Amino acid sequence: MKVFNTIKEMRELLDTHRSNGKSIGLVPTMGYLHEGHISLLNKSVSENDITVLSIYVNPTQFGPTEDLDSYPRDIENDKRLAENAGVDIVFIPSDSIMYLENHFTYVNVNNLTANLCGSSRPTHFQGVTTIVTKLFNIIQPKKAYFGQKDAQQALVINRMVKDLNIPVEIITCPIIREKDGLAMSSRNKYLNQEERGQATILFQSLQMAKNIIIDGERSADIVKSSIQQSINSKSLAKIDYISIVSENTLEDIDKIEGNTLIALAVRFGNTRLIDNLRMEVN
Ligand code: AMP
Repeated sequence: MKVFNTIKEMRELLDTHRSNGKSIGLVPTMGYLHEGHISLLNKSVSENDITVLSIYVNPTQFGPTEDLDSYPRDIENDKRLAENAGVDIVFIPSDSIMYLENHFTYVNVNNLTANLCGSSRPTHFQGVTTIVTKLFNIIQPKKAYFGQKDAQQALVINRMVKDLNIPVEIITCPIIREKDGLAMSSRNKYLNQEERGQATILFQSLQMAKNIIIDGERSADIVKSSIQQSINSKSLAKIDYISIVSENTLEDIDKIEGNTLIALAVRFGNTRLIDNLRMEVN
């Protein structure tokens, strides 16, 4: 496994791989790897000749009061896990490599970024789409792997790739969960014992919503209030949003039908957790 902190030499190696007909898969991450990330790496390793893991805590996707400085980092452990997963190249750039002085160019996906996490994190997706575009241009992968955990991010990147004709196939991988249902996240590390215990309510509430819909309920308002009630039963939970949207537009729907995404963000102390559930409703 090769580790690069700068672009030029990595690009030369990737160019050689490409000219030898090797397919390249990219897994972009912010590091502090867990089994969710590993599932993406496993998929890429199984589908490509060369897998590139990028680890970069991208400052432009954090708001001014968010956790950029405290975001968990453990590069040595990440490298070990990457090597075990069969990663060929790890790209760990610094801020000065990714953002040159006078960086003026940003990529924006309209509409899909207005709702859900976009409401409480207004500059987040611009940061994500800009850095992902840069990584696509630097690495030029055939396929890139994203988690359904960040459902809106996956949809936004899919849209961006279509709208801008970026020659990469986006693969969205299922959410990997802890045994008790909590979606794995690097940010789970922030939770104290009591918060961690209560945090399973996200998954439980989504499962409850699914059952209500399976039993025939089609009113988004009714399902949302049941989720709200369930989450509010936990003393430490502070709801950021609960949304039921069409998966195609990410706009709120009144009547639940078709490809539906139920997405939520909930704070426990300073930690903001997200989770979601997709359903195809007839
Ligand atoms: P992050 O390092 O949190 O930016 O995540 C990097 C990639 O891993 C993103 O595409 C995430 O959606 C994905 N990911 C994070 N957590 C999970 C999870 N629990 N299951 C599946 N994918 C995940």
